[in-house]
Amino acid sequence: MTAEKPMNEFPVMDTGEGIVLFHPNIPAKAAFNVSEVLNTRWIGQGPKVDEFERRFENKFTSPCKSLAVGSGTDALHLAYLLADLKAGDEVIAPVFTCTATNIPFLYMGVKIVFADIDENLNIDVKHVAQLITPKTKAIVCVHYGGLPCDMDELWQLGAKHNIAIIEDAAHAVGAKYKGEFIGSQSDFSMFSFQAIKHITTGDGGMLVVKDHALVEKAKRLRWFGIDRSSKQKGIWENDIVEVGYKYQMTDIAASIGLAAIDEFDEHLAHRQRLYRLYCDLLKDINGIRVIGSEYTDREHAAWLLTAEVDGRESLMKHLREHGIESGQVHYRNDKYTIFGGRKPGQFPKMDAIEERYLVLPLHAKVTEEDVAYIAYVLKKGW
Ligand SMILES: *Cc1c(COP(=O)(O)O)cnc(C)c1O
Repeated sequence: MTAEKPMNEFPVMDTGEGIVLFHPNIPAKAAFNVSEVLNTRWIGQGPKVDEFERRFENKFTSPCKSLAVGSGTDALHLAYLLADLKAGDEVIAPVFTCTATNIPFLYMGVKIVFADIDENLNIDVKHVAQLITPKTKAIVCVHYGGLPCDMDELWQLGAKHNIAIIEDAAHAVGAKYKGEFIGSQSDFSMFSFQAIKHITTGDGGMLVVKDHALVEKAKRLRWFGIDRSSKQKGIWENDIVEVGYKYQMTDIAASIGLAAIDEFDEHLAHRQRLYRLYCDLLKDINGIRVIGSEYTDREHAAWLLTAEVDGRESLMKHLREHGIESGQVHYRNDKYTIFGGRKPGQFPKMDAIEERYLVLPLHAKVTEEDVAYIAYVLKKGW
């Protein structure tokens, strides 16, 4: 770090690269847990996966059932299959999200109808209401950065039109909406355990289903369509009547996830502390607004610190010159050819914020001193 610092004692992250935007959060017990698994007969999907599902479900998703899979994208694809989405059906999804939210639809021939976002980067529920047609079979919402969407409005729309609500909660482990955990109420939800999410298993994900009658089918689809519980009893006469794929999690991955659950509360508290500190220190600085700080009915999981800023390019340069990484992370999906490309004027709120959103460092390695330093650098202007 060559940056001027307000005080000498400002410790900066020990990566040697300044304050980086992302860093995996590897729990203390992860390596031990993995080495234990590597010395057993089960390294693929076995008892650790069962244990991880049970503990995740008890902690976050009960009464909905949790099923561990190979990635968040796998969980989304399975949720879409279980919601019985078929070629020609329409689904409403936010235009601003990780492409993983929408790519499975392209495999399925489901028509994506993009909805605009609100000023806090979440799906705009008023626009969603206008987009519903008789062909709409599901609404997907993304709790962007960890900030819960307007769920009451979405659940009301779902009930009124008899369409499934699917939550992409990749950013939102531990987030709460009106006192309840995200992932414990909708028809389907999914979490991601990709390298830089709250919980990482290297890669991994959790599918969450409300209707317990779908659990057996979900388990079969996760494994080629085969009923593993019958197979493991040695009765290998089962027919395969539906096409599954290979979506399962391994015990190696689950053992890392179990270590992450042990430390989760502490980790989330750290992220939320940093989020509140950012809000506090940036609130009087002109030209920057922390996104999502006004709500009192929902708890931000603080995966990303997103801000709306003036002069984004010069701000990023200013931060870079002080050893601080920042970036966009995700882009509007209608810019990609695979989703049909961009048609001007369709999404006025997306247009308004497109050149103005920015993600600042917030993760396990960021300290409160780092945030104070970032605020100090921002205060100098850009
Ligand atoms: C990370 C992410 C996913 C996909 O999860 P993977 O585990 O990487 O497959 C889906 N949606 C959003 C919003 C994400 O950020």
